[in-house]
Amino acid sequence: MLLYQITAYKVIIASRKNINTIFCMRDLDELFAALARSRFRSRFRLGKKEQAYLYDKGMDTIRRHAFDFVNQRIAPAHPVHDGKQTPMRGHPVFIAQHATGTCCRKCLAKWHRIPAGIALNEEQVKYIVEVLCTWLERQIDDQEDVRK
Ligand SMILES: [Zn+2]
Repeated sequence: MLLYQITAYKVIIASRKNINTIFCMRDLDELFAALARSRFRSRFRLGKKEQAYLYDKGMDTIRRHAFDFVNQRIAPAHPVHDGKQTPMRGHPVFIAQHATGTCCRKCLAKWHRIPAGIALNEEQVKYIVEVLCTWLERQIDDQEDVRK
């Protein structure tokens, strides 16, 4: 069942190439290449618990969680405890946030050219969720490669 979900999800990813023409933020290929060059960002990996949670819940649910976290913790103009609102473990999305520079408004400004001090709009929230789910997808792919 989950494998089917992941396969279906990959089809959706294939249609995402146009994302930056719609949202005018950062090209995802260019972004992921830059993240791979960052020692700090490229260190982040899912732990065993987060991996198991991701497989157990499936990407659709994790994507909903990502929306909720971004809306609650990142989207306000001045988020509560900005810079410290994203735990280092406990949920796959938290790790994806640190790995992709979407953990706080300062990192969003630096990595994604999204200015701080202004509430995120709907497109920006969608873009961030795409970034997070793309990172998580790549983690799943990497782990499946290891298993082969
Ligand atoms: Zn940050």
